[in-house]
Amino acid sequence: MTTTGEERERGFDHTEIEPRWQRTWDEADVFRIDDNETDPEYVLAMFPYTSGSLHMGHVRNYTITDAYARFERMRGESVLHPMGWDSFGLPAENAAEERDTNPRDWTMQCIDSMRDQLTEMGFGYDWDRELATCEPEYYQWNQWLFKQFREEGLVERQAAELNWCPSCETVLADEQVEGEEELCWRCDTPIEAREMDQWFFTITDYAEELLESLDDLDGWPNNVREMQRNWIGKQAGASVAFEVGDHGEVDIFTTRLDTIHGATFFSLAPGHPVAQEIAEDNDEVAEYIEMAEEADEDELDVTSGVFTGEYATNPATGEEIPVYVADYVLTDVGTGALYAVPAHDERDHEFAEAHDIDIVQVVEPTDDADADPEDIDVQEAAYPEDGVLVNSGEFDGLASAEARDRFVEEFDGEHRTEYNLRDWGISRQRYWGTPIPMIHCDDCGYVEVPDEDLPVELPEFVHTTGNPLDAAEEWKQTTCPDCGADAVRETDTMDTFVDSSWYFMRYTSPEMEEAPFDAKRASDWMPVDQYVGGIEHAVMHLLYARFFTKVLDDLDMVDGVREPFTNLTNQGMVLGEDGNKMSKSLGNGVSPQRIIEEYGADTARLFIMEAAQPEKEFAWSPEGVQSAHSFLQNVYTLVSEYADGEAGTDADPENGDDIADYVAREIDATAANATAEFEDFRFNHALQAVRELVSLLRRYQEATTPDADTFERGLATAAKLLAPVAPHAAEEMWAELGHDDLIAEAEWPAAEAPDDYEMERQLVENTREDIRDIVETVGIEDPQTITLAVAPEWKHRVLDLARNADGNVVGTVMQDEELREQGEAAADFAKELAGRAQSLDEQLPPEREQAALERAAWLVEREFGADVVVQGPEEADPDLVGKAGPGRPAIDIEE
Ligand SMILES: [Zn+2]
Ligand SMILES: [Zn+2]
Repeated sequence: MTTTGEERERGFDHTEIEPRWQRTWDEADVFRIDDNETDPEYVLAMFPYTSGSLHMGHVRNYTITDAYARFERMRGESVLHPMGWDSFGLPAENAAEERDTNPRDWTMQCIDSMRDQLTEMGFGYDWDRELATCEPEYYQWNQWLFKQFREEGLVERQAAELNWCPSCETVLADEQVEGEEELCWRCDTPIEAREMDQWFFTITDYAEELLESLDDLDGWPNNVREMQRNWIGKQAGASVAFEVGDHGEVDIFTTRLDTIHGATFFSLAPGHPVAQEIAEDNDEVAEYIEMAEEADEDELDVTSGVFTGEYATNPATGEEIPVYVADYVLTDVGTGALYAVPAHDERDHEFAEAHDIDIVQVVEPTDDADADPEDIDVQEAAYPEDGVLVNSGEFDGLASAEARDRFVEEFDGEHRTEYNLRDWGISRQRYWGTPIPMIHCDDCGYVEVPDEDLPVELPEFVHTTGNPLDAAEEWKQTTCPDCGADAVRETDTMDTFVDSSWYFMRYTSPEMEEAPFDAKRASDWMPVDQYVGGIEHAVMHLLYARFFTKVLDDLDMVDGVREPFTNLTNQGMVLGEDGNKMSKSLGNGVSPQRIIEEYGADTARLFIMEAAQPEKEFAWSPEGVQSAHSFLQNVYTLVSEYADGEAGTDADPENGDDIADYVAREIDATAANATAEFEDFRFNHALQAVRELVSLLRRYQEATTPDADTFERGLATAAKLLAPVAPHAAEEMWAELGHDDLIAEAEWPAAEAPDDYEMERQLVENTREDIRDIVETVGIEDPQTITLAVAPEWKHRVLDLARNADGNVVGTVMQDEELREQGEAAADFAKELAGRAQSLDEQLPPEREQAALERAAWLVEREFGADVVVQGPEEADPDLVGKAGPGRPAIDIEE
């Protein structure tokens, strides 16, 4: 085949090489990990929901973990990098309805096509460990774990508010309630709220530990830890009882017991038992409660409430204060009752103003506070800060913190800690989930399904307006395991967050038939070292997974694993070309499939990784894609030209050794730099370093006949550094270079930067910059010879002394006998350095400086088209040397 010029078929054809290398990796079991491995590097992406196709967010997520897994593998680590399917959930039911199929067949189709897409992207997973949460082999362990949790006292029946369609007579999931008007998705009837008993995991038992151990999760982003802290919402406070009319004592919870003397009214949540009691004889209260219960969240403002006609006795003052029922008090937060201090709480202040209630100040700023007591007018606005007590009888002058402590005892209260965290309601009234392994018997109540009858498998899908399990009559009817009487199965299924709370353990032993996972292996392989996924899971999934892990440890199912994920990365979004979130309505989405077909998986992976650090969002850019594509083709071309012997093999005897030396040092420095960046998940920096190396190799080849060993090592290093991100192209290059092993299994380039590399790089950069300045300022059009003269030894000595001198630089220098011999010149140079004594960097010694400049001379020659002469202080013109300083060679340019 003869080709010329631009048409030369040097590039690779991604449609040919990508599937070929995918098959080769598969046949060589590159990504398979043996069960006997000890504590492998566990790299994991949050498994995908089985929607049927990958979007760019997936591609970014999995490219990150795959690149990191490949990097660690090349570094000699054994790596566990599995993949599975979060395959239960309502969308499959909807899809089944729309397509007249069933959720299972639909989901299995989705899995098949997504698996193909992942393979086409070149992601290296141990497919032997694949799992799907909708398989009975998996979800039977959800059921078994539910029973274990129940035995441990972590499962409860609690009332919860559900969406009820009165027309379909069924409970609806939140996703089945449509629009602002909250209509049933099937019949458009407005839904109602209905309280029903549901199954709960009592995650609140672990609230304190879940909160405390966040402090030790150093490998997690701070914002995620903060979101979890807020979600758990710990409040240290106290409870005190108020006598309410003839309804007896009512406990309140407060974090500001110091303000109790300023309580001017008392509020009950609409759901509080005493409020309900009052409503029995008070129509106005009854009406308000009914209205509040039907209202949506946020519909009523903080001033909404009704006076009950009753009074509560403030235990601190003995005063009678009016009792209100108010929607802003939440039934399930604290005790559902509180005393209100409008002078020191903004919400109470607003309510008091609206209802014309007294406002009494009981705290004023301390002397050292920013605020002046004179400026505080609590009638105008609440003063919510701590301070010292006033209008509090014998306690005036007490500091807030002290008062809080003292009042607990004084008013017969108790210290109490409250959390915003609620128990985890896991009952879902839908089909495509794990059946809850309980049976209801009229005589025995709820009875567990015995272990030998697990799994409780899902029956055939029933097309119905309601809960398909409720409609599966035959399946539902069973007998009571305790008394043998007729009984019915629980028809609710589990929240799919149960599935994802322990799947990372199952990957360690996915075939295990006797237990959810092998305890010993899970103990050794867990926790996950690097977990990558979206920020939308900051609270629910990540909190539930932490909860499960702690319980599993307490159940002795793992040994000493109390946190599931050591390091967490939340990848940023891939935006559309227009900078907006990709969406169907904006039409700015980019299909991974199309990019794979047009440019290949490597291009997509490289573009995504070069575009930004994993945490940052970035906009899709066709130019960026094009640039990644050309770059890969260019590196490949460079490699294949070399492999074909077109790049020459003998070093140029003139100055070839210096250049080879320079390039060799750059290769080492690039490898060291890229390694550090890979370790820190700054793939874009690593890839920038590779691009610079490749461009250096190209200039090397253009400047001279490259030294074969150095040039080949440069190409091999570039290929290896690219291998985690663009694995197919890298394999192709590796093969071109004559290797018959796989680059995926090759050794990562030895990564040590040469001694003083940074100083040397700085020297070369500064020198080139200075030459550019001179050429420009003087207006030199065609430089012929550039002479660089290195500063003499004694100037380096002055620099050393100046760097270490305390203040008197000139004095210190002139005390030095040898330097005194230099006379005025030494004093002048010392003065010059003294002027910038704070910013004197260490420099290479003169002979090393000269060597570094000699090595880099070819770059200057190429840039300015001039000969470059590097001279030591003895050989150079004394006038020129006089201008040189350490790290700043004197420059002479002849036209
Ligand atoms: Zn309906
Ligand atoms: Zn029974």
